[in-house]
Amino acid sequence: MEIFFLGVGETCDTAHGNSSSILTTSNGTRIMLDCGFTVPHQYFRTVEDPTRLDYIWISHFHGDHYLGLPLLFLRLWQLGRTKPLTIVGQKDIEEWVINLLEMAYPTFSRRIGFPFKFIAISPRATAHIAGMKWSTALTQHTQYNLGLLLQDGNKKLYYSGDGRANTRVRRLIQGCDFAIHESFNMVDTYPYHGSITSTLKLADEVDIGQVALVHLDHNLRKNEIQTIQRMVQDRPNTLLPVAGDRLNF
Ligand SMILES: [Zn+2]
Ligand SMILES: [Zn+2]
Repeated sequence: MEIFFLGVGETCDTAHGNSSSILTTSNGTRIMLDCGFTVPHQYFRTVEDPTRLDYIWISHFHGDHYLGLPLLFLRLWQLGRTKPLTIVGQKDIEEWVINLLEMAYPTFSRRIGFPFKFIAISPRATAHIAGMKWSTALTQHTQYNLGLLLQDGNKKLYYSGDGRANTRVRRLIQGCDFAIHESFNMVDTYPYHGSITSTLKLADEVDIGQVALVHLDHNLRKNEIQTIQRMVQDRPNTLLPVAGDRLNF
């Protein structure tokens, strides 16, 4: 799988954008992981052939994870997209997204020039979509947020969305090859977000191959960047990506 980081920040991070990535699987399927406020401009500015997008995963309904959808849809339409687009997420995904499209541009969702559909998945069952297994776990966040484990052949990628890992998440991601995990604070302080310290501990305890720390509080990143970089450099399998970074695993 290939990961291209579109943004690595939290809601208010003007330097690093909202956290989102483009995943290209071994069969060439392209999946966007979350689409917050800042994501569409970054996507259309930096991704080659932006109409080549097959799926969008929405972890939860906070603005830095899904409020970019109206602009993404609008621009894809403007670029002449005709092939179907599928949005995958938790229960009620269709209602949330249609309401959002209507709020941004009334009647737009009925006039859009390409077909789109929704797939709602639940932590109770693994879904089989585009030749991959999609399994989820409810994280500890202020809103219902699903962490997603994607299995492509023998490779497993976990994307946390928001929220601290709990026993459900630990069970899901045991031994996964790569994790993109929110790490909002330096240590666990606020109960509904993870931290750099707890993500590194999680990676050791559940045997994650490589871990990328994203969604850092922008003040923490600004004020403690040297300390954070030292923590990452001491660990060969830990990354602090920035927008534009691309890697294969
Ligand atoms: Zn959130
Ligand atoms: Zn967030």
